[in-house]
Amino acid sequence: MYISTRGNYREVTAAEAIAMGMVPEGGLFVPKSIPRIDLEEIKNYLGQDYQSIAIGILEKYLPDFTHEEIAECVKAAYNQENFAHEAVAPLVKIKENCFILELWQGPTAAFKDMALQLTPRLLVKAVQKLGLDKKVVILVATSGDTGKAALEGFKDVPGTEIIVFYPFGGVSVVQKLQMVTTEGSNTHVVAVDGNFDDCQSAVKAIFADKDLAQQLDKAGYCFSSANSINWGRLLPQIVYYFHAYLYLARNNEIVFGDNVDFAVPTGNFGNILAAWYAKKMGLPIGKLICASNENKVLADFLATGTYDRRREFKQTISPSMDILISSNLERFLFAMNGENSALTAQWLAQLGTEGWFTIDAQTKARIDETMAGGFANEQETLAMVKKCFDESHYLLDTHTAVALKVYEAWQSVNHSKNAVVIDSTASPYKFVSSVYQAISGEKANDDELALLEDLSRLSGTAIHRGLANLGQKPILHTRHCAKDAIIDEVKDILQLK
Ligand SMILES: *Cc1c(COP(=O)(O)O)cnc(C)c1O
Repeated sequence: MYISTRGNYREVTAAEAIAMGMVPEGGLFVPKSIPRIDLEEIKNYLGQDYQSIAIGILEKYLPDFTHEEIAECVKAAYNQENFAHEAVAPLVKIKENCFILELWQGPTAAFKDMALQLTPRLLVKAVQKLGLDKKVVILVATSGDTGKAALEGFKDVPGTEIIVFYPFGGVSVVQKLQMVTTEGSNTHVVAVDGNFDDCQSAVKAIFADKDLAQQLDKAGYCFSSANSINWGRLLPQIVYYFHAYLYLARNNEIVFGDNVDFAVPTGNFGNILAAWYAKKMGLPIGKLICASNENKVLADFLATGTYDRRREFKQTISPSMDILISSNLERFLFAMNGENSALTAQWLAQLGTEGWFTIDAQTKARIDETMAGGFANEQETLAMVKKCFDESHYLLDTHTAVALKVYEAWQSVNHSKNAVVIDSTASPYKFVSSVYQAISGEKANDDELALLEDLSRLSGTAIHRGLANLGQKPILHTRHCAKDAIIDEVKDILQLK
């Protein structure tokens, strides 16, 4: 069963938690008890592939789903068609005891694929399980990466329609081409004359629109969200921590049972939270290193115990981590404060009204046992891309470079004996301008498509297949609307009225 972090809702089943996304009154669903898995049981997975590990882990959290249902979802998500590498999420050793976990082998070159290839399938099953005989309409406002990953995840999944809104002129050429060339009979992409906030506000308003909900209901639809606060998006991420650990053990890079540290480039706190769940379940994980860019609200929080969003928002070269409110932190706070929902609710309320809160010393001490934070600035990030390429001949994207930089700084003080895994959350080709500039030392060409080729030539690596030939693909989506006409666009797409 699942409960609210703010103690403001009844217990729900896994299917309900996934179908609902978040608690209606505010708060996030978390498992009432976290399943344990002992070392002997983990060892049984040593010879098994990604799919088998995924099925095993998911079953522990989804008691109201049958084995067959879970297996069907997993097999449709993590196969060779969707993931270029047979390991799904391979590890690359860049130096002694240091490994890069490539979470970007999926269709869109970003780690969001790891979850979003599975979430839609779980969501459809959840809705069916609840007896809602409805087609699920997913609305997404995107500043770039999430939109494409969600489109690919929901593409041609029966029982769903997906509509993505992006700010016209507010995404990169590559990101735009990725979205507007998406195939599938149930995908819809709309350019909005406005910025990302306009798109997001409009989507939130649509979710809250009771009249529209009624209209949809009559037409046989219901809305849902593929946002990272949905448990159905967090759960798939626990799997790759087990898979990575087993991979290291199988290849004798570690002795089975040894602790491994993980460094995670963090934005909304979903990825690193999944690592914490894996540790809590019993996977031998040492320290979790939470890496931020110059939007270092989390690094400051981990250092001081005060979370303070009252600061300037910075646009950085690791844009997927440009976040001042890390939504999934709420789940971690709840776990660390002894599952005190009243206290969690109080902190989050204060964050809403005053923009900051401070945790108590005991909670802080508990967090310190598990997690350390740090940040890298823009210069350090570019320098790390260059250093890693020169020394290890491995091409890092800017987000991964932040994590490696923060890890190295932490390690130089803490001298951990553990092997470390650095989560790599994007292909370097996804952030081609910054990466090219970092390793060539030259200002990058403005033509992003040409730059993909340039980077390939310069680095001797292949362009990620999700980004190759983008210029030749037919444009399939040309919808464009004013920011106050988003709701009409939704009605038009769904042919309401
Ligand atoms: C989404 C994203 C992140 C942040 O992950 P969270 O789970 O939100 O912390 C980091 N890097 C890239 C490339 C991303 O797309």
